[in-house]
Amino acid sequence: MECDEPRSAASHHWALRQTLSEERWEEARPKLLDSLLASDCVHYGPCDHCSLKQAVIRCKDCFPKPRYCGQCDVSTHQHLVFHNRETLIDGFYKPLPPSTAVQDLSGQNVIYEQVCLLPITRPDKICDCDPQNLAVVAGRSVVLICINGCYDVFLPVMNCRACLASWTPEVVDLLFSGYWPGTVEFQTIYKVDLFTSFEDLKITAPGLSRQAFVKMLQQRSQQFGRSGNICGNVFQKAFLEWTYCRHKREKLCGIDHFSCPACTPDTVAVSADGNRKLYRFSKTKGTEEQPFFDGVFLANDKDVATFVDCVREKTIPVHGKGICGTSTWAAARETSKKTNTKCDEEGLEVAVCRHSILLRGLNMFRGEIFAYPLFLQKELATKTNCKFFCTDIMCRYWPYLQKVAQSFPEMQNLTQMKPFLSVMHAKGHSTKCEVQWGGKNQTGAGTTIGEVEQVNSFLSRVALTTKYMSKAARVDMITLHARGWNERKKRNLHKYLSTRYLKTIQKTKEVNKDIAAIKKCTQRSDEELQQWVTDVRQWAVDTPDDFRTDDPVALQHLIEGLFLGIQQKKRDLYRVTDRNKQRHKIRRRIREDKKKLFNAISQYNDLPTTTESVDSVEDLLAAESPIWPWDSEPDTSLGMKKKVFDKVMQLERLIEEEAILLEEMKQHWTHLTRTCRALKDQANVLADDLATQSYPSGLSGQAYHGLHSAVLQKCEEIKTDMVAVKETYSQIVVNGNGGSVVEDDEDPYENVSTDASTDDEL
Ligand SMILES: [Zn+2]
Ligand SMILES: [Zn+2]
Ligand SMILES: [Zn+2]
Ligand SMILES: [Zn+2]
Ligand SMILES: [Zn+2]
Repeated sequence: MECDEPRSAASHHWALRQTLSEERWEEARPKLLDSLLASDCVHYGPCDHCSLKQAVIRCKDCFPKPRYCGQCDVSTHQHLVFHNRETLIDGFYKPLPPSTAVQDLSGQNVIYEQVCLLPITRPDKICDCDPQNLAVVAGRSVVLICINGCYDVFLPVMNCRACLASWTPEVVDLLFSGYWPGTVEFQTIYKVDLFTSFEDLKITAPGLSRQAFVKMLQQRSQQFGRSGNICGNVFQKAFLEWTYCRHKREKLCGIDHFSCPACTPDTVAVSADGNRKLYRFSKTKGTEEQPFFDGVFLANDKDVATFVDCVREKTIPVHGKGICGTSTWAAARETSKKTNTKCDEEGLEVAVCRHSILLRGLNMFRGEIFAYPLFLQKELATKTNCKFFCTDIMCRYWPYLQKVAQSFPEMQNLTQMKPFLSVMHAKGHSTKCEVQWGGKNQTGAGTTIGEVEQVNSFLSRVALTTKYMSKAARVDMITLHARGWNERKKRNLHKYLSTRYLKTIQKTKEVNKDIAAIKKCTQRSDEELQQWVTDVRQWAVDTPDDFRTDDPVALQHLIEGLFLGIQQKKRDLYRVTDRNKQRHKIRRRIREDKKKLFNAISQYNDLPTTTESVDSVEDLLAAESPIWPWDSEPDTSLGMKKKVFDKVMQLERLIEEEAILLEEMKQHWTHLTRTCRALKDQANVLADDLATQSYPSGLSGQAYHGLHSAVLQKCEEIKTDMVAVKETYSQIVVNGNGGSVVEDDEDPYENVSTDASTDDEL
């Protein structure tokens, strides 16, 4: 999205090109319409194939010779059943189903029905008799569904007239020909390509329902002169069966969809958050079937429930909502009853890394209780080896975690992680809380944001369809979407990391300049500025949580904090948000804060120790930076110090971010090289097994061969990725030593045996 070119010049070019293109279209328009009409003009003339008879059929898929006489049409299209043909005998082009043909009966064109066989691989011979005795006839009828809709066809049956041997296609034969059974008895058959299209569409447009897709297919059938109903349930079931098998195959190739290459083995931060939009209506019918992807992405419901109960048993919960600063957090709870009886699952809690790759999730059944993020944190602690754990209610969650860890020694290690209050959400917390827990102020966190927003907006669109599904189908569809999301994120990971790196370098320069300007303006040394940073931290420590106090210093802190919070929110109102709903929320928080500030000021002014009272809220807010009665030096109010604090923190985070990104790019590259090597090794092992005909995984010889090919294919994919990644990363020059993120001794095209049968390397 960012462009190196200055925006004005770029947009000028764009506008110019746009105008030119517009003009050309306008010139061409009359001709386009003319040609469109002309294309429907029926030409009577000879058949393109035999040149003897009159053409009666036009095929939309047979170019450059689309025109057929009745005889040539039948002889060609009995092998090309899926071609969309039209007849011109009525003076216009009328679509024909494959089973309809035209015959010339003494000068009269007669329409008649014929049998269409499903195109499928057939054996060369079914017995030892003379192949002349073999006849292919129509077996039972089936419905084939592909991206062009439905086709009524017959299964081919081979019979031997001599020995009466017979062959009919089985499921194996379907799969070999690129089909997938709709049921085990396969009355309905799908082209696998249809599933791929559906999956791609779903990932790109998660709100697309299967009904809409099925309707589209039916519309296409009609358009091409065919008919037939498509059952959405059968389609979904078959689709999920296919997805599951494919997932299994990828697992056999060692592919893990729910980990991040840039975060393996060491993850800087994992963020967890709930999404209440992913609920499911409990009335939605569904048998008690098990999801295919139980525990793959979403944790098993029973495991989560056991964990929640176990934690609850051993720790005494604090009931009620969590309160921080001025805000009440619906999310911040230790306990919660089921809130909505209409829903079974009430939502999803997911965990992502810094690159928005989904790592783990679970179904929420009783609001957003702390035990849910705790479950995810526990599950991911060892797998990701992560340093920071981020949530939007960290100031309440962390004390909870410490309490739980006291009762559960096995969770003690979780307290070794560092707490991180997600950056955007920190704004809603009190200033004290923001200073202490806010992600921007955590040493070592870089410019991590700690949000799940991006992926949540994707998942919310998925919810449009999953809320009506059965329990099992919902889990499977969500897993499928999460997988697709991750695949996309991984594909662009190198671009994302390198862009972020360049932006970080740029931003560092800017912030350095800002700090130099502040130094010049305030006439302070580095040490003095550093002292301000310490002062702000100390201020936060000294600020009480409770607001009912008669300690004058505590009240002073509260007043300062509230004032800064209001100022920040007012800035956000005009800078950060352009959406009405968000503005409304900020305005409400400002109102609440003002009320608190008013109370705190009255309380302070009423204290017997107060000699000089604080101005009214409105007067304070009218001043850019008010001077508090207790300020010793007028130009070093907390507001000023906080400004410096924020800048210094920003610079520290940016410098950390640079190092973090380099490390992540290195990890990404190492991960790719390792994966590539592992695949090569696996290919070699498989080749050895194939040579000795030992198939340890319980697969047939042919399946084992197929697995070998799949591994080779994956290996090739990774190699292609590596070339692109290397290209991107080699442009990143590491400061100082001139080194590179990418090690040069790794050649993705190292020897790997591609031929299983002649493998003699080892
Ligand atoms: Zn012909
Ligand atoms: Zn054709
Ligand atoms: Zn025979
Ligand atoms: Zn990551
Ligand atoms: Zn807080």
